[in-house]
Amino acid sequence: MSHFYSQKKIDRRSKESMVQFLNGHFRYNTMNSWNGSTSYAHSIKLHNLGLTSEQLDKAYAVLRTDIWDELAVQIQDFVTQMRGAYTIATNGRSGGYLVLYSSEWKATSYMSYCRSCYQRNYQACGKTEGDNTCGACRSTGEKGRVNYATPPRQLSVSNAGIDAERDFEDWSMEQLRARVNVVEAFDSACDDIRLAFLNMLELDVVEETIMVPEKRYVLQASHAQ
Ligand SMILES: [Zn+2]
Repeated sequence: MSHFYSQKKIDRRSKESMVQFLNGHFRYNTMNSWNGSTSYAHSIKLHNLGLTSEQLDKAYAVLRTDIWDELAVQIQDFVTQMRGAYTIATNGRSGGYLVLYSSEWKATSYMSYCRSCYQRNYQACGKTEGDNTCGACRSTGEKGRVNYATPPRQLSVSNAGIDAERDFEDWSMEQLRARVNVVEAFDSACDDIRLAFLNMLELDVVEETIMVPEKRYVLQASHAQ
C-alpha cells in the first residue's frame, strides 16, 4: 500500500477538516484551460512521480509502449467501485494529469449481435423463425444474430467539472462525507495507478516486429498436367 497521493484519513466528524481537505486538493482542467471547468486531480508528470534517476531513464523507454492498455484495469476497478458515477482520465499536454470526472452508465440500445461478424443491432430477434439474419454478413440461424443476455452499456463521461466553485459552506455533513469518500477513493486509485506504473519499470521493453498476413495472387504451373 503506497501513500503517494493519498493523505492520512480525513476526520469525518469535523466539517472544517473535510472542507479543508476538499479545498486544498490539487485541481486541474477537465477540458481546456480557457473553458474554466476543473476537478480533483494529480500530476503524473514523470518528474513528479518520485522516481530515482534510474527509474526515470527506464520510464522514458516504458512510455514508448502502450501503458494505458495495462493501466485501464486500475481505472476500471475505480469505476466499478464508484458504480459508474465517477471515472478517471488523463488530461493536459501529453496527458500529464489524472483527473476525476463524473460519469454514468447508459444503455447503448443495442439489443442483439451477430455470432459470425459481431455486428450489433438495435432490433431484438427470436420472435419468429429466421428473424435473426445479420444485416451485415447475412448469417442466419445458429450463426446469425442472438439477443444480448444483458444489453451492453457505455460509460458516459461529463466534462462539467466537480466542485469548481468550492462553496462547501451550505453542504450538510452527509454531503461532505460522501464527497470526501469519493475524493479519497480517487487519491487511492491514483496511488494504485502509480504503483502499477512502477511495476512496469521492472519489466524490459523489447522491440517486436509483428507479421501481418496478407493475401496475394501468384501464377503457378497447373498440377493437372
Ligand atoms: Zn454478421
